[in-house]
Amino acid sequence: MDSRIVDEPGSRSLNFIEQMVEEELSAGMHGGKVVTRFPPEPNGYLHIGHATSICLNFGLAERYGGVCNLRFDDTNPSKEDQEYIDSIVSDVRWLGFEWDGAVRYASDYFEQLYAWAEQLIAAGKAYVDDQPAEVISAQRGVPTSAGVESPFRDRPASENLSLFRRMRAGEFAAGSRVLRAKIDMASPNMLLRDPIMYRIMHVPHYRTGSQWCIYPMYDYTHGQSDYLEGVTHSICTLEFEVHRPLYNWFLDQLAEGDYRPRQIEFARRNLSYAVMSKRMLLSLVREGVVDGWDDPRMPTISGLRRAGYTPESIRLFAEKVGVARREIAVDMSLLEFCAREHLNRIAPRVMAVLDPVRVVLENYAEDRTEWVEVENNPEDASAGTRRLLFSRELYIEREDFMEDAPKKFFRMSAGKEVRLKGAYIVKCERVEKDEQGRVTTIFCTVDEETRSGTGNDRKVKGTLHWVSARDAIEAEVRLYDRLFKDEDPAGHKDADFKQFLNEDSLRVVKRCKVEPGLATARPGDRFQFQRLGYFCADKSSTAGALVFNRTVGLKDTWTKQLAR
Ligand code: ATP
Ligand code: MG
Repeated sequence: MDSRIVDEPGSRSLNFIEQMVEEELSAGMHGGKVVTRFPPEPNGYLHIGHATSICLNFGLAERYGGVCNLRFDDTNPSKEDQEYIDSIVSDVRWLGFEWDGAVRYASDYFEQLYAWAEQLIAAGKAYVDDQPAEVISAQRGVPTSAGVESPFRDRPASENLSLFRRMRAGEFAAGSRVLRAKIDMASPNMLLRDPIMYRIMHVPHYRTGSQWCIYPMYDYTHGQSDYLEGVTHSICTLEFEVHRPLYNWFLDQLAEGDYRPRQIEFARRNLSYAVMSKRMLLSLVREGVVDGWDDPRMPTISGLRRAGYTPESIRLFAEKVGVARREIAVDMSLLEFCAREHLNRIAPRVMAVLDPVRVVLENYAEDRTEWVEVENNPEDASAGTRRLLFSRELYIEREDFMEDAPKKFFRMSAGKEVRLKGAYIVKCERVEKDEQGRVTTIFCTVDEETRSGTGNDRKVKGTLHWVSARDAIEAEVRLYDRLFKDEDPAGHKDADFKQFLNEDSLRVVKRCKVEPGLATARPGDRFQFQRLGYFCADKSSTAGALVFNRTVGLKDTWTKQLAR
């Protein structure tokens, strides 16, 4: 971990979870050890909200010399897939964390959970209900008055046991029966009104194959899985606060001894101008609105990675966002700020011209070339320098030229001087235009006395990036913008979130001119295109067909764009 950009442990005040853990540890609880876990359901790709939870769980373990498990809570085979497992495993690793032992799966505990279910049946604390799901759900009623007890609630234990075994054996149709915990149909906590523990699903599981046709519910699985793993701090998001009494109830019936995982809830972190629900992200992928889960506009970890974000920048973001009990939407610009913060230190500078216009230096001989030396990273002297070939014909950015420029325009304009980065001061003498009046060539003269680094270089207000027409190579550049125009696209009750898509969220610029050294850029390599922003070679990029994704601009211009 690059400690320079992440606050040193101890340099900030403790968050409420750390405070709690420190109090417990100093009181000698948990035998002095901290065991946490990150428990995704493998039904989608991880997003930036999950990343904050990963940093929190692994970070706590790191900070207190403990361990963190990676466990898949894979209780719903109809929505789960190996593809999701693989992506989640690689995302967690990419973020820079290593879990304790092997990857774990709640499905590893199916046999134990089943045995516990039989134990609850034998103790008269669970029963098989033959009613359809809608009836069961209706009987739960409303929190203010007691629900209706199932006619099967007082089935003898022996009958329940035999039915439950037959459920497992595959004798019954999906949905025809469930196993329910016998708790309290009058509880003000609806989750305690005889919750379903098992349902029949004749669906193969991506890990257990066709071994099971009954599957435990998430609520019957999660707490016991934490218990089986010796988790000390079971950190989850706020919506699980009401589930806590149920998790405790199961463990009070089943656990031996006093040890219980301690559940601590914190608020979800959402991002402005993004949707975070897996259902919505999946629909963007399925409908082809984006180019897969790793589209650089997606708030997924894989999307951020493909866009060029570094693990360090995401960890810095998580640190800055912190943990709280109140749900907030974090501004997207904070995430972008964190990206710039790290990329500024590590990204080599290169020159790329996205919208090239030809410049001819009239007093520079046609066959003459020379090498000029430029810094690879002014923030990092160890990054060294590189040589660029300077010649009579160059390209500069079209928007860096204005024939008739206002006073404050310090780029190239008629009769004015400007420096070409690392090379000479040039002066625009005249332009050539096509029939539409569009500038095709800018003719300049170069002042030989002003070569950079010679000591007698005069100062001029503007410095432009350029590439040499002789050796520039072509690249495709993808300029991404936020996927949504609305700050909270999912927050409109009567409007579909897709109504708020930003139709300009991707602009593909073909045939950009970039310096020749970029020919060796490999997918995932990150650069600062000078004066333009940070860019990352796309996974599809090859030496013969370079493709770069814009990670983020050099400055936060979004706020201004919105105002326009
Ligand atoms: P689902 O609706 O499928 O349950 P989920 O976003 O809760 O979606 P999980 O795979 O259950 O996905 O999440 C794994 C962990 O990440 C959980 O502990 C969850 O609380 C946490 N988490 C999910 N979303 C956020 C978020 N936006 N901010 C912080 N933590 C989150
Ligand atoms: Mg969840």
